Amino acid sequence: MALHVYDHVTRTRRLFAPVHPGQVGMYVCGMTVQDKPHVGHMFAFVACDMIRRYLEHLGYAVTHVQNFTDIDDKIIVKARQEGIDFRVVSQRNIDLYHECAAVLNIRPAHRYPLVTDHIPEIVAFTADLVAKDHAYAAGGDVYFKVRSWDEYGFLSGRHVDDMRSGVRIEVGEAKLDPLDFALWKSAAPDEPGWDSPWGRGRPGWHIECSVMATKYLGPHFDFHGGGRDLLFPHHENECAQSCCGTGQKFVNFWLHNGLLFLGDKKMSKSDGNFFAMGDVLALFPAEVIRFFLLNAHFRSQIDYGEDRLREAGVAYDRLRRGVRRLAERRASGAAPVPEGLLSGPGEVLSRAVREHRRRFFAAMDDDFNSAGAIGVLFGLVRDLNQYDAAAGPELLDGAPLDEAWALFEDADRILGLHREGLAGLVAVTAPVVPQEVLDLVAERVAARNRRDWAAADALRGRIADLGFAVEDGPDGSTARPAIPGGD
Ligand SMILES: [Zn+2]
Repeated sequence: MALHVYDHVTRTRRLFAPVHPGQVGMYVCGMTVQDKPHVGHMFAFVACDMIRRYLEHLGYAVTHVQNFTDIDDKIIVKARQEGIDFRVVSQRNIDLYHECAAVLNIRPAHRYPLVTDHIPEIVAFTADLVAKDHAYAAGGDVYFKVRSWDEYGFLSGRHVDDMRSGVRIEVGEAKLDPLDFALWKSAAPDEPGWDSPWGRGRPGWHIECSVMATKYLGPHFDFHGGGRDLLFPHHENECAQSCCGTGQKFVNFWLHNGLLFLGDKKMSKSDGNFFAMGDVLALFPAEVIRFFLLNAHFRSQIDYGEDRLREAGVAYDRLRRGVRRLAERRASGAAPVPEGLLSGPGEVLSRAVREHRRRFFAAMDDDFNSAGAIGVLFGLVRDLNQYDAAAGPELLDGAPLDEAWALFEDADRILGLHREGLAGLVAVTAPVVPQEVLDLVAERVAARNRRDWAAADALRGRIADLGFAVEDGPDGSTARPAIPGGD
C-alpha cells in the first residue's frame, strides 16, 4: 500500500502524489493570538506535526508554513482592555504558543509569517482581485464577489443558493450581496490601520492565508491543515481568493482535524469552555497528552476530560513498560543467532514483528491513521510479553528483539511521543507518578512488611484519592494512574 489521503472533492481516499517530485508544501492555519493556546488549538498542531513527520519518514522534503493572525478585532479589544499596544498582546501569546509547541515535541515550522509583516502583499493581492473583477471596493472596504467564482462551495459541499438564507448584510457593511466577504476593512481613527488604495484599513481574516501560503509555497501546493471549524467559511474563502487570484488549483489535500468536545460542546475560547494548554501540562506529562491526542484518527472528534487523559496515561504506561522491558532484555546479552538457525519462540516473534511493521505502516498510509498505528504497537507489546514467557534464558534470539526495537524507534520518530527518542524514554525514570504517591507506596510497603494490614489498606485508599492504583508484583509494589470506574 502507498499513502492514501482523504480528498474533499471526491469524498474518498486518493493516492498521494506530490505537486513537485520529492517535495511537499504544507500550510497550517495558525492561531489568532488574542489569548493563550488551549488544548483544542494544540490538537490541530500535534496532528499536523504527526503528518509532517510521516511525510518526512517517507523521504519527502517538507516545507511547513504556519501563520499567526496577529491583528484582528478580538486582539484590538484585548489590547484596549489592558491599555497596551496590540503587538504586545500578539507577541505574548505567540511566545506561549512556541513554549507549548516545544514541550509537546512539535517540530518548528520553517516559517511563521505574521499578517502585519505582509500588508503590501495583501494590498497587492486584493488590488489584483479587484482588477480581475472578482472583488469591489465599497465605502472604504473591499469585498470578494462570491458569485464571480462558479466553484464556490466545492470544498464544504454547499451550494450558493442554499447559503443565502441565514446571511444578511450587517449594519455598516457596504457589500452588494450578503454572501460577499471582506478582503479589506476600513479602520476607525483610533484602531490600528495601514494605508491602502481604498483608504486606511486592515486586512479581512481570510485573505492573509491566501497571500502567505502562495508566497511561500507557490500557487499550487500539497497540504493545507486546520481545524474542522475552519472548513467553512475560512478555507472555502481561501480557495475562492487563491484560485481567482492565481488562476491555478490551490491545494491538493485538506487536513481538517476533528474538534475537541467538552461534554456536548466544542472547546472554544469564545464560549469560555476551554482548557489552557499550560494548565493541562501542569497536570499531565506532555507525552501522555500527545499520546491521548494521537490515539484517535485526526479527523475524528475527541471527547476531552481529565478522566480521559488519566485513561490515556494508563494505556501509555503499558506501552512504555513494554518498551522498557524490551530495552532491558536487549541489554541483558541477547545476541543475534545466524539466520536459518532461528527457531521456536524467536522465529514466531520475528514473523509477528514483520507483520506488525506491515500493519503499522498500512495504518499510517491510510489517511495518517495514528490511532490504528498505536493499536499495532500494543499488539507488539503483547507478543513481546508472550515471547518473554515462552523464551527461556537459553533462547537468546537477539534478531527479533532488534527488529521489534527498530519498529518502536520508527514509530516514536513518526508519532513524536518522546522528545529524547526511545533512548531518552528508557533513561528517564517514571514521570507519570508524582513523588507524593511514590512516598505513600513506600509507606505502604513498609506497613505490609510489618504486617500492619489496616495501615496498608488506609494507605491504598489515600493513594486512590490521588487518582492512582497500587500494583503488587514479584518485583515489588508500584503505582499507576487509576482507571476511572475500574479500580
Ligand atoms: Zn487560515
